[in-house]
Amino acid sequence: MEERNLICINCPMGCPLTVTLGDDGSVISVTGNTCPRGDAYGRKEVTNPTRIVTSSVPVSGAKSGMAMVSVKTASDIPKGKIFDVVSDIKKITVTAPVHIGDIVKANVAGTGIDMIATRDVE
Ligand code: SF4
Repeated sequence: MEERNLICINCPMGCPLTVTLGDDGSVISVTGNTCPRGDAYGRKEVTNPTRIVTSSVPVSGAKSGMAMVSVKTASDIPKGKIFDVVSDIKKITVTAPVHIGDIVKANVAGTGIDMIATRDVE
């Protein structure tokens, strides 16, 4: 058996979690969580950790001149792909206008997940 101590990042309470793993790596229990989201987070974090990635990319042709648009992955990506995603985003510039929800990079870093804009830039 193995125990892993984590902090739940789903809300500002930051509950300290203890995840107990069996010899085969399966989750036996999660304790310390105040709500079910912590249980789900603890189980996922030790078996398949994922994250939303946020960043910003340059926009050409914006009315305001040089501009940046904030972006994020449309859903969680595997934690191990974060650096690949950031590296992929650094290569792109989008052309104005850009609207919330527009795909600024499809299949970012081969994850199968799109990078989308989170603000409007005219
Ligand atoms: S377990 Fe629930 S209450 Fe605690 S930090 Fe996670 S989401 Fe917040």
